Amino acid sequence: MIDLRSDTLTKPTPEMLETILDAPLGDDDRTHELGRGEDPTVNELEDLAAQITGKQAAVLMPSGSMANTAAVLAQAKPGSTLLVDEQQHLLISEKYLFDPDFGRIKFRTYRHDEHGQPDLADIERHLDAGGIDLVCVENSHNYAGGAVVSPDRLAAIHELAGAHGVPVHMDGARMFNATVALGIAPAELCASVDTLMFCLSKGLSAPVGSIVCGDQGTILEVRRMRKALGGAMRQAGVIAAPGLYALRHNIGRLAEDHANARAFADAILDLPHTHIVGDVVTNIVVIDVSDLIDDPLSYCELAAQRGLIIRPVMKRYIRFVFYRGITRDEALEAAAIVRELENELAG
Ligand SMILES: *Cc1c(COP(=O)(O)O)cnc(C)c1O
Repeated sequence: MIDLRSDTLTKPTPEMLETILDAPLGDDDRTHELGRGEDPTVNELEDLAAQITGKQAAVLMPSGSMANTAAVLAQAKPGSTLLVDEQQHLLISEKYLFDPDFGRIKFRTYRHDEHGQPDLADIERHLDAGGIDLVCVENSHNYAGGAVVSPDRLAAIHELAGAHGVPVHMDGARMFNATVALGIAPAELCASVDTLMFCLSKGLSAPVGSIVCGDQGTILEVRRMRKALGGAMRQAGVIAAPGLYALRHNIGRLAEDHANARAFADAILDLPHTHIVGDVVTNIVVIDVSDLIDDPLSYCELAAQRGLIIRPVMKRYIRFVFYRGITRDEALEAAAIVRELENELAG
């Protein structure tokens, strides 16, 4: 079976797991100055993350969802209003922040264009109308086919938001896919956002963990929110050690996943009824098969019978994610199955 459901399926390598055995450990929830704990490996990871992203401070989180939740709650309290992309993960998949029984945060949405770039005029209109407490962007943009929001567009959003005294949070679950695709340093991409989070657990292949980065004051508040959410951990160096390995060794190789996604897309480009949504620039390909079949879930079932595991996204589309462990041959094999399905369903 070729499983292209998500890059969360990456498994840690033996080298990565070996780092755990030698990692110095301590109680990360026994805190000192600036809210930092006693686990030296966690502290080393947080310092490296802050350095790579060009931010003052960073904090390790158990998951990407908690990273977003804590980063938002550090900057927008219940009752405040977020401006989010209408297809943002935070809004569509996480939701808890906007639950009237939990986060009690309100939201307004902005659109993005067919290349996944946030609509500046739309963002400006919402900011001018007032009442926005935090602007959120996603980079790379998962449901927009792994689109990369350009540093220029981010800078323009930051400037608009800044003029209204509103901070910007970036959901950078796949931020390194964006920087590798752009060929720029992570700090360059992060310069135009106030806080950001990224996942160690997706393409970077660590088993667990995400990081929030930002200025010292905000990260202290993120730490407070992490504690409130139950995300403060003890000997978390066992998570941080593979995370350190991931940051040191697995960023550059994301380019291989991008090349596999591109090879897959190129092999199905000529199909008249299987449409690729957006541009393919990172490790995600989203397709629209509504010309062929009414229910994307039935399409996925047919694919599974042929050895390809995929899932619908946003009830309309189907997502293919390429990650470490998926070979070029498998990418091309997946394309052959998509071609077979088009021939059968269109015939
Ligand atoms: C995966 C993902 C998250 C959440 O990460 P988890 O570790 O699965 O909670 C947040 N945002 C985006 C864009 C993601 O793809």
